[in-house]
Order: sequence, then C-alpha cells, then structure tokens
Amino acid sequence: MPTKIEWTQETWNPITGCSPVSEGCRNCYARRMATRLAGRCGYPRDNPFAVNWRGGWQPPGRDWPVIEQPAHWKKPRMVFVGSMGDLFHEDVPEHWIDRVFCMMTSPHCGANHHTYLLLTKRPQRIYADGQVQRFRKWRNIWLGVTAENHVEACERIPWLLQIPAAVRFVSVEPMLGPVKMRRSVLTCGAGVGSVPSGPPYYRDENWLTGYVGNSDHKGKGAGFCDGGRLDWVIAGPETGPGARPCDPRWIEDLALQCDQAKVPFFDKRKSGWIKRQWPKAHEPNAGGEFRRGSDDIVDVLVGLAPCQNGKDSKMGMRELEGAIANELREIVGKRSIRVKDMMEWSTSEDVVRKNATDDETVIHCPRNGVWVAIASSKVPNDQADASAERR
Ligand code: SF4
Repeated sequence: MPTKIEWTQETWNPITGCSPVSEGCRNCYARRMATRLAGRCGYPRDNPFAVNWRGGWQPPGRDWPVIEQPAHWKKPRMVFVGSMGDLFHEDVPEHWIDRVFCMMTSPHCGANHHTYLLLTKRPQRIYADGQVQRFRKWRNIWLGVTAENHVEACERIPWLLQIPAAVRFVSVEPMLGPVKMRRSVLTCGAGVGSVPSGPPYYRDENWLTGYVGNSDHKGKGAGFCDGGRLDWVIAGPETGPGARPCDPRWIEDLALQCDQAKVPFFDKRKSGWIKRQWPKAHEPNAGGEFRRGSDDIVDVLVGLAPCQNGKDSKMGMRELEGAIANELREIVGKRSIRVKDMMEWSTSEDVVRKNATDDETVIHCPRNGVWVAIASSKVPNDQADASAERR
C-alpha cells in the first residue's frame, strides 16, 4: 500500500509481528499499529504483534492474497518489505522467507520489475540460513540494517557489509546517540587456540569508504580500501508518543561524514537544512527501472526549494512534489497533472533528459528549480515543441 515513509513508495507486508531486540524498539511503530488493528486487517485479536507469516491473508475486496500483491503493481516502484515486522525474525520459517524472495526475484512470479528494500535488525540470520551469496545475483534487492546508536552500528553494520547486496544501507532511526561510521577493535596477533601471540593491535574499519587496516597504539599502521562500504545512510529522530530527544548535531555530523565519503544521505527531519539523496542503483531492473534516483545521486536540497507563494520554505518531499505539480499545471495549462505523472524530476537537467523516454517531455520548473519529465500526452503541442528546441 502507498506509504508516508519518504524514502520508499510502497510497503508490502508478507509477514507481520516481531519482538524487541534493542533500545530502538522501545516505541516500536509497528507494535503500536498492530495493537490498534487487533482483530482487524488480519491481525489476531489476542496477540496482534505475534510473528505471523500472513501472505495467505486476502485483503477485503481483492481476489488475491498479500504474498502476490507486488505482481499486481504494473509500474516499477520501490517497495519496503516488512514495515510491520522483521522478515528475518527467528520465528519466520525459512520456507516462508524463500517464498518471499522467490516473489521478489523470480521472473515467473511477475514481480521482479520492482526494487525491494529490506530493513532488519537481525542481519546475522542471513548467514545462518546460508543466503549470503544469493544476494549477488538479486540486483533488485537493497538490504539495510537499523542502527539507533554507535553500539548497535558496530554490532550490525559489519554483518551487513559481508553480504553482496546491490545496495547496502543503514537506517539510523530513531537516532538515540551519535554514530561514527567507523570502528577500531583492539585485537591480538594470531595465536594458537585461545592463546594470543604477537603484540596487540587495532583493526580499523571505515564503513563509508571501505577502508580496512591495522594500526598500533600510536595510530601508526596501514590498510587498504576494498572492504565493503555502505551505499546509503538514512537518519532521523524518533517520532510519535514518548519520542526520545535527538540532538540535531548528531544528524549533522553523520551528514558530514557521508558528504566527505560521497555516500548519499537521506535526512528524515521535517525542518532545518535537509539533504535528501538516493543511492545510485547499480543496475536497472529487468522489467523497467525506478526512475527517480536510478541514475546518479539525485540531490534534492529541500530546504532550498522556494514554495509557491514566493517565500522560502522548509518543505517535506511530498509538499515539494505537490508544489512542482502545481507549477507544471500552470506551465502546460492542464488541470489533471498529478505527482505520479511526473516520472522523473531532479535538479539536474542531464539526469532527467538521460532517463526520459521518447514519449516523455522534459519541462523546466524555474520556481522550484527542477527539471521534470512527464508523459507527452499531458503537454500541449506548442509546449512540446518548445521543449524539443531546448534539447
Ligand atoms: S525490530 Fe523493528 S519491528 Fe521488531 S520490535 Fe524492533 S522496531 Fe519493532
């Protein structure tokens, strides 16, 4: 179903339910929603947040079960899998995980034209199930871990970086403390059994650059840069009832670390100087590609976008898209342009032109400072001619 989560387009829940693993779970949104929906929408009345692989549940008014839902979405889109639970929870049976992966990746299921985003706090289960190498061929699956503070980042990111997913990302949300995207682990030279030999040294890792090296207590050492690296970082404060405070400097520091390493950063705050970037998708999907963010990093400085009435505004992504749709309506004189008609938009003309198909026209929206590709059928001929001349 369509979602309010800004970094994706749809959610799909072939499993629901979970149990807490760390401090970030204290105000779990999924548990709150499941409790609210107890006895409805397929959530059991007595224990609505129990792990439930409910892909067989049929939404009212539909003649297909939840597991087949992505096959009914014809246009390629970004799908967040398991927003109401954790697919890799220990109570989800392996055969059901296999079925979900089959749906996402097999051409026979008719749903491998989407890009799927999996987010987990249990990346170690992927090892236990022997799934690691299969990620190498699944190019439409992005895999991420949640890390609410530096301790959890140190615990989960090294697992993630050993899995060759097409895009590896970290969601630092709710952000409960500062997070450095690196660690130094004190260790010893290889010994026999449990007996160490050689002087102790630090193993240094930088998860944004892929640097891995050894150094001594004076910081002297050497390393190389082909350790795994992250492709995307998302960060945001806790929201909802009982939300714990998040120092804006934690987010700004993380944004700076990403900026220095040229890793896309997505800021989920609603105000302030917000930087929202998507990762480069490594390969287009077989049945099409997700247009926004499919080429280079699409860098949208939402804080810079002037709103319709001419005042500077700190807009969210949805408001910005609404403002662009309004401006487009004025430019092409059509009342019926909706956000979803804008197949591609970016602050970079090159990115939009490169991704636009022959039956789309590229229009410049000067007030919002973006270029947009829309279906040519929406554009009057004189506008389309003017656009073609600009090419
Ligand atoms: S892992 Fe996620 S879904 Fe599970 S309890 Fe924690 S926050 Fe909720």
